[in-house]
Amino acid sequence: MITNNFPPKYKLNINENCNKCKRCAKECSFDVFTFDETENNIVAYNKNCVACRRCVLTCPQNAIELSENKIAFNSHFNWDYKTQNDIHKQSDTGAKLLTSVGTGLSHKNIFDHLLLDACQVTNPSIDPLREPMELRTFVGRKSDNISDEIGPQLQLETPIVFAAMSFGALSLNVHKALGNAARKAGTCMNCGEGGLHPDMVEYGPNTFVQVASGRFGIDKEYLESGAAIEIKIGQGAKPGIGGHLPGEKIDKEISKTRMIPEGSDAISPAPHHDIYSIEDLENLIYLLKEVTEYKKPVGVKISAVHNAPAIATGIVRAGADFVAVDGLKGGTGATPATIRDNVGIPIELAISSIDKRLREEKIRHKASIIASGGIRSSADILKIIALGADCASIGTAALIALGCTVCESCHTNKCAWGIATQKPELTKRLDPEEGGERVYNLLRSWSLEMKELLGSLGITSIESLKGNRERLRALDLDSYTMETLGVKGAGR
Ligand code: SF4
Ligand code: SF4
Repeated sequence: MITNNFPPKYKLNINENCNKCKRCAKECSFDVFTFDETENNIVAYNKNCVACRRCVLTCPQNAIELSENKIAFNSHFNWDYKTQNDIHKQSDTGAKLLTSVGTGLSHKNIFDHLLLDACQVTNPSIDPLREPMELRTFVGRKSDNISDEIGPQLQLETPIVFAAMSFGALSLNVHKALGNAARKAGTCMNCGEGGLHPDMVEYGPNTFVQVASGRFGIDKEYLESGAAIEIKIGQGAKPGIGGHLPGEKIDKEISKTRMIPEGSDAISPAPHHDIYSIEDLENLIYLLKEVTEYKKPVGVKISAVHNAPAIATGIVRAGADFVAVDGLKGGTGATPATIRDNVGIPIELAISSIDKRLREEKIRHKASIIASGGIRSSADILKIIALGADCASIGTAALIALGCTVCESCHTNKCAWGIATQKPELTKRLDPEEGGERVYNLLRSWSLEMKELLGSLGITSIESLKGNRERLRALDLDSYTMETLGVKGAGR
């Protein structure tokens, strides 16, 4: 019987420029290239190729051409390449399909159907080169009355933080690069649920430390070293399930940071085993506040699902200083593909609904909202703030700045760019200083663009855009979606 006869998705062609230096065989971490001594040439095993493009970009002779294997694709709309190939893989192994990054399915991207509305004449636009534009954002609980003392606030110089990505999912050099960028830009990274490596403690004032269901790496020192504490309940790429870092990734450094034995699996259960109600969550929030003497914001991260507004209300009433919400398109280092692609709701709908619900209950000021899940540009950030967020959190965009080519192979521990891997021969490919500069440049560029966009909206401060849906218009969205967003159609 012929099994898995499905053709490879990508095709590599080595052209006549090749001088047989064998560099591609060294650079490729997916074992695509071998040198055939008999034929005296490089041979490419196309089936292993994930299109990470490392070989194309490092070949000194520009001799490698990478293309989609178009001839092999049947054009059937329902039974496309991916669907058929997934069935083949599952028939081969009987195992769940694992993947990484955010969903690549063509769910409607609401950001692309929202337009920012400019001002003219009666409410004139503002020139950001002549007028000061305020991007500074504060994360934390505000008081009910101006005379009351406010809770601890985290000051961000731009409304962008880095999403929670653990040491384990990512290399230590990536954490250092994000720490360098966050420090220089006056914002924060998030160490995720893997604990804080001793080398990262110096970045503590620019770090959210996370308390997740596995409780890895948590002690008083860890909690005190961060600028804010985030309790992770859910993640956009995998709502309702936990995490699993396989034992082969738990080397000496990760074992030290996570406080678990080397080589043992790091399993994060789906729920926190001590949280089954808002009251339980309140206990944990106040435990963390007590331990850190009420000196830093303590918040809760949830995934965007249909009852997120009710859950967010409970979280705010339980004393959280911020609610982080991660949408359907959020990224991950590893998850079952079926969960990533089919569970959750878009961040645009979740944020708007949460903001409206908190305003209706007159508690919107009691917590900041951090939005993540598929945010790709400065315009996406302003749109999500206009829908009710205080600031945005970015993960994949920061990794792309570091060289990620979105090959969806983070879960294999073979990342050719040294990002989502612990293999020393790969992690050394990423320089934390140079990488930090690239990510900082991205933040700087987006901040300049946000000032330009705010000026065109006739607004001088990011705070004035928060929940200001009047500055948005919908194009090609159905009436139900527009009502949920609270946005008028373009032309009205
Ligand atoms: S890196 Fe380029 S030049 Fe060197 S062997 Fe590979 S294809 Fe040929
Ligand atoms: S981090 Fe590495 S493995 Fe993951 S998608 Fe990006 S390039 Fe691929």
